Amino acid sequence: MVGRGTDTPSSWALGDGQAIPWEYAPAPESRDVVRIKPRNALFIGGRDVAATGGRTFATLDPATEEPLAEVARADVKDVDKAVTAARKAFRGWGSLAGAERAKYLFRIARILQERSREFAVLETLDGGKPIKESRDVDVPLAAAHFWYYAGWADKLEYAFPNRQPRPLGVAAQVIPWNFPLLMLAWKIAPALAAGNTVVLKPASATPLSALLFADVCRQADLPPGVVNIITGPGEIGLALVSHPDVDKVAFTGSTAVGREIGRAVAGTDKGLTLELGGKAANIVLDDAPIDQAIEGVVNGIFFNQGEVCCAGSRLLVQESIAEPFVDRLRERLSTLRVGDPMDKNTDVGAINNPAQLARIEELIEAGVAEGAELYQPACELPARGWFVRPTLFTNVSQSMRIAREEIFGPVLSVITFRTPEEAIEKANNTPYGLSAGVWTEKGSRILAMVSRLRAGVVWANTFNRFDPTSPFGGYKESGFGREGGVHGLLPYLDLG
Ligand code: NDP
Repeated sequence: MVGRGTDTPSSWALGDGQAIPWEYAPAPESRDVVRIKPRNALFIGGRDVAATGGRTFATLDPATEEPLAEVARADVKDVDKAVTAARKAFRGWGSLAGAERAKYLFRIARILQERSREFAVLETLDGGKPIKESRDVDVPLAAAHFWYYAGWADKLEYAFPNRQPRPLGVAAQVIPWNFPLLMLAWKIAPALAAGNTVVLKPASATPLSALLFADVCRQADLPPGVVNIITGPGEIGLALVSHPDVDKVAFTGSTAVGREIGRAVAGTDKGLTLELGGKAANIVLDDAPIDQAIEGVVNGIFFNQGEVCCAGSRLLVQESIAEPFVDRLRERLSTLRVGDPMDKNTDVGAINNPAQLARIEELIEAGVAEGAELYQPACELPARGWFVRPTLFTNVSQSMRIAREEIFGPVLSVITFRTPEEAIEKANNTPYGLSAGVWTEKGSRILAMVSRLRAGVVWANTFNRFDPTSPFGGYKESGFGREGGVHGLLPYLDLG
């Protein structure tokens, strides 16, 4: 910490302009940890392959708006090449002994750990998320998924006793920009453990960690074609999932694209897993441990700038404690450090892309126009890059857009309730059903509530906790199928 006396920047204002008399010294992570290739090819059949049309696109740093690298733009011929390579590789990989497949997965896990700093820096540069989150959450969890599924590769018949689990074949996987490496791990680890080969399309805004993962596959001596990575726009994702030689489709992203993929796959015998949007309720009852709940609510919505499908974007707080709770929350928001994602002290980084920033700003305006009360701490935002202040809305009614639509940004809407019954009704009053949280001191209250919340995941006295051993997935418009745990193997297997 550096003493600043009276010239304390307003970014350190506490609540209503009360300034604290010091500033954190900058603590930037080094960019030199990773060498970003200026031009990046597709990864097909174990080799770097230029896109057929020779076209490329740029990926940008959300914190500076500067280009980071050029990336190959696949066309439909490249989709076909990648699926053909995956099919060819499946002949060997699909019949390899489970213990042999496990060796490769363990190797990948270990390499991800060894290269974790490189991956963390790349993820932050390409995605805008704070380095402390890439370093402490995204990369360790990605490695943990490979460790976990490596353990299952030779035990499939024990996971599904009296069945004869067999791989499906070629999996087409399309992933979003909010957790690029982690979503890759969620998709690739179970698919490979089960004996499938994959073609993965990362989001165009964040392709770099997937392309670095291609390097990990080479380093692990993974047989060519077991993992293929193609980069390009959404239409390439659609061409991939529609390819006739694909056996299984897995998608994470918006509900709108999920619907389109559902239509493309309908009438075929392809397996389909969809992990889509959410509008989670984080419910704080009057007997909740307040300090923990404040931290949990903050983590629930401001982790990864709120660009999280399971973010706790609706705070349901019991009326009797609502006023002091919201006061404490405002105070806590004013201490969040917003800014350079590469700074190790940053809590809230950059919004991933300008379209997403525009959507968040539009919904904040809609909240104000519909009569909700806005609070944003007086922090200064960097002059360049796509940033939004942490935002808290009170006086929110359930009919407002901010209470109904997925914002996918650092915006929390506070709604009050009088009884647990009313809380459950309000929590379930959404077309989504991905996650929810309950904060209370009483175990019996937790059990009574969680069984009635229509959400795939319910956290009790915590939020946004992920573990490779536990299944994750939604109901209703949040999609179907589960990723993680033994459940996450099922979509990649034919049980005979
Ligand atoms: P999309 O659903 O459009 O993108 C997710 C992935 O799907 C990307 O790889 C994208 O490619 C690809 N894609 C886009 N169109 C198609 C298509 N027609 N067929 C197959 N694949 C396609 O999400 P956005 O990035 O546009 O974000 C929009 C909204 O979606 C956000 O505001 C947020 O509400 C929600 N969202 C939810 C996520 C979740 O985890 N549930 C994750 C991301 C977004 P490309 O990047 O090249 O367009």
